[in-house]
Amino acid sequence: MRFEFSTATRIVFGEGAASTLPELVRSFGSRPFVVTGSSGERAAWLVSALSAEVLAVPGEPTVDLVRDGARRVREAACDVVVALGGGSAIDAGKAIAIVATNGGEPLDFLEVVGKGRVLSAAPLPFIAVPTTAGTGSEVTRNAVLASPEHGVKASLRSPMMLPRVALVDPELTYALPPAVTAYTGLDALTQLIEPYVSARANPLVDALCVDGIRHVAGALGRAYRDGMDREARRDMALASLFGGLALANAGLGVIHGFAAPLGGSWNAPHGALCAALLPHGMAANIAALRARAPLHPSLGRYADLARLLTGRKEATAEDGVQWVRALCADLNIRALRAWGIPQADLPAVVEKAAKASSMQANPLSLTLEELLTVLSAAW
Ligand SMILES: [Zn+2]
Repeated sequence: MRFEFSTATRIVFGEGAASTLPELVRSFGSRPFVVTGSSGERAAWLVSALSAEVLAVPGEPTVDLVRDGARRVREAACDVVVALGGGSAIDAGKAIAIVATNGGEPLDFLEVVGKGRVLSAAPLPFIAVPTTAGTGSEVTRNAVLASPEHGVKASLRSPMMLPRVALVDPELTYALPPAVTAYTGLDALTQLIEPYVSARANPLVDALCVDGIRHVAGALGRAYRDGMDREARRDMALASLFGGLALANAGLGVIHGFAAPLGGSWNAPHGALCAALLPHGMAANIAALRARAPLHPSLGRYADLARLLTGRKEATAEDGVQWVRALCADLNIRALRAWGIPQADLPAVVEKAAKASSMQANPLSLTLEELLTVLSAAW
């Protein structure tokens, strides 16, 4: 057996950890640049404690937003970047920290649609402070950016982009509304399931996935119904962190393969797309494995997942799909068409998804016809 697992991020976890943030930031630099979510209100205390420059990220980050942010960082001679917000703010901060030192145009460095220019200069020190429990972006080495002109999302990716510190304080998630709790929580679950069955799974990732999936199974419904359930919020914050570490080391699969082109063309939260696709992507992989590779180890892993999710020893792979379907119904997850995606566009989405980087780690290669079946079922 051979495997690799790496992270260069210092992880600080715990209720109340955010109160140490001003001191932590000052240990990296004296001119901070703070990136926040849409309202910016949640970071007002930090901005005033640090007398920092601030940028609010209104939606999922675009190439234009990163270009402007990096220019402001250079003009104000900032020497440390902090993102306090959901995955959008963290991805924006991560990208700004590296584009600011590498210069040039963010598109030059973007995978798939860009020139794929290699990032060579080290980024400014970057500190990630998530306020949702889902993306795990605080421990990943990529930032997903939308390029509206290409109608896709693609990644800036470099091992240097791993945040220097991930400060995870579950108290920051207490105020999340139920719908955001549901979407982001199902993104976390997807980011634990896809690495666990992935072609690049390894024993360290397995340990994180098994524990993380148990946390989601026990906590997501509770956090959705009662945002102040401290234990459920803590378990979801841990699950999100584990999912980030898992995907950074074992990749993703068909569900994230679809989320990239869908999120690039329609204005829907990443987690909402993953949630709508999750049971159908699982079902398609299980059916394809049974038909073409009945001895494939990922098939046994889908049965392991089902046992973890249902708590029943005799659960089959298909029972796991049923459990996820029922959870999505409980959490009022909407089908893809609710996000304004026209049925006529589904074949074009399939073409783009087949080329997405996440698709490479799917346990087996799905045909275009199978991909269209997944997308149509989620629509
Ligand atoms: Zn995701």
